[in-house]
Amino acid sequence: MSDNKYSTEKLDTVKIVRHETVKAILCEHYNEPEDSIYSEEITADLFGGSSKKMTIGDQAKAIEGMGIWGFARPDENEIHYWIKDKNDRNHFLYFISHELGHIVGKEDGDDMHEEFRANSYADVATKATEIADSIYSPSLLQELTTLREQNEKLKSEVQNDLTIIDHFSSEITRLTGGTPNTGKRW
Ligand SMILES: [Zn+2]
Repeated sequence: MSDNKYSTEKLDTVKIVRHETVKAILCEHYNEPEDSIYSEEITADLFGGSSKKMTIGDQAKAIEGMGIWGFARPDENEIHYWIKDKNDRNHFLYFISHELGHIVGKEDGDDMHEEFRANSYADVATKATEIADSIYSPSLLQELTTLREQNEKLKSEVQNDLTIIDHFSSEITRLTGGTPNTGKRW
């Protein structure tokens, strides 16, 4: 961990490790073997300062429900995470920028304050993304409306062309007194 409150150089070398299963990431987190891990008891710190005894098996169920979970190891400059396949991008963005927040700058000695510190990075990252998205990629609805308008315009242009061809076609028929090549478009 850096002593510089504002240092971000660790972002260049941070190691991001994805775990395929909830069990695998919990084994990594607690440094426990797979076969016994779910019966181990832990004490979970809750917001507000209270704590609760639970098994790692209970924690696994809670993690499955959240769809995403992970942790940072600032001293090793590592972030470990597990994600359900269909987790949404914004949720992941919040999660990963929170964990990166633990990596950068100077860790707060108070656990709860350290979480608030990490959240402030996540808040900034998600707000910045929201603003950038609103400028650089219009909402899907707007994109669809634009596509629909373009499609209508194209259709009417094609229709115009066909009308013109029909017009010339009948002009030719009139002028030559014959039958044009019906069924063929020029
Ligand atoms: Zn955290």
